[in-house]
Amino acid sequence: MTRPARARINLPALQHNFNRVNQSAPASRVMAIIKANAYGHGLTRIAQALPRADAFGVACVSEAITLREAGFDRRIVLLEGPFAADELRLISGYHLDVVLHHREQLAMLEGVNLRRPLDVWLKLDTGMHRLGFEPSAVPEILARLDHIDYLGERRLMSHLACADAPEDDYTTNQVELFRNTVESLAGECSLANSAAVLAWPAAHFDWVRPGILLYGASPLLDTTAAALDLQPVMTLETALIAVNTHQKGARVGYGGDWVCPETMPVGIAAIGYGDGYPRHAPAGMPLLVNGKRAPLIGRVSMDMICVDLRGHPEAAIGDSVTLWGEGLPVDEVAASAGTIAYELLCRINSRVQFDYFE
Ligand SMILES: *Cc1c(COP(=O)(O)O)cnc(C)c1O
Repeated sequence: MTRPARARINLPALQHNFNRVNQSAPASRVMAIIKANAYGHGLTRIAQALPRADAFGVACVSEAITLREAGFDRRIVLLEGPFAADELRLISGYHLDVVLHHREQLAMLEGVNLRRPLDVWLKLDTGMHRLGFEPSAVPEILARLDHIDYLGERRLMSHLACADAPEDDYTTNQVELFRNTVESLAGECSLANSAAVLAWPAAHFDWVRPGILLYGASPLLDTTAAALDLQPVMTLETALIAVNTHQKGARVGYGGDWVCPETMPVGIAAIGYGDGYPRHAPAGMPLLVNGKRAPLIGRVSMDMICVDLRGHPEAAIGDSVTLWGEGLPVDEVAASAGTIAYELLCRINSRVQFDYFE
């Protein structure tokens, strides 16, 4: 038996989730966000399965080049723009769009002369206070851009801080500030992340930028993915490689943190933090053994985890263990690990075997 840790990637589920974007924001074009290896799902395979995405959003040039070299000629947007001036030739050569969020980046643009038109997305800070220009600086920035003769199309964007909380005034205010700022300006606009695609129609504008919802996790607090008609794309599974009976009082795993309250069967499953599974997963975190819930016990090791099999007297070596996905929402697992689905998904690494189903 080869090591059984694998991620089953359900591409029809991805397409179903993409259709949810079209249903929710029918008038908007879609920039599918596939940074961080498509949230851990595999950059090029996910891009290939999204033929109706109008553009792709990535975080860095190397992600964009991977797509170009795989043959994608669609619009690709570098969501944080250039990190240094010496990236600009590569960016132009690969025909990538850049976000501009800082005067430092404007200076980089002013310091080179590119042969091809460069399309830019001017990023405004409407309240996230992470990246972007003050809306009041827009006239000054546009004037500087006007002097760059290789400049191509110019778009405007911003990012929402609290769109996961429905009816939060903070989002209403961000939408309003963005709308007021862009109203009198030419060029397409973009504001909505996944949460806003589903919950904030006023934020849709010309382009929406869904990420997490494409992968089937819920972008909204207090609403499950199933209630939003989203389907899980990644099912992370492995198998039991040992089943042992331990006596009452036996200590399980590194540090001996977990103590058997009675004589009981303990399963060992082949996955661990070396695969990107969260090391801080607490005892009691849910798993499925043969499709039925069982709690994690003991500390997560690099290659293995321990499972309380008291509810599974029939469990045997080779039986399937599901960490999340079909039958166990990644959002629920994330909540019990004190994190969010985004982090669990994008940490899964290539030591896990990825199998794609069409
Ligand atoms: C990551 C990202 C998104 C997607 O966010 P989700 O919450 O995953 O939908 C959208 N816009 C920008 C600028 C991002 O960096």
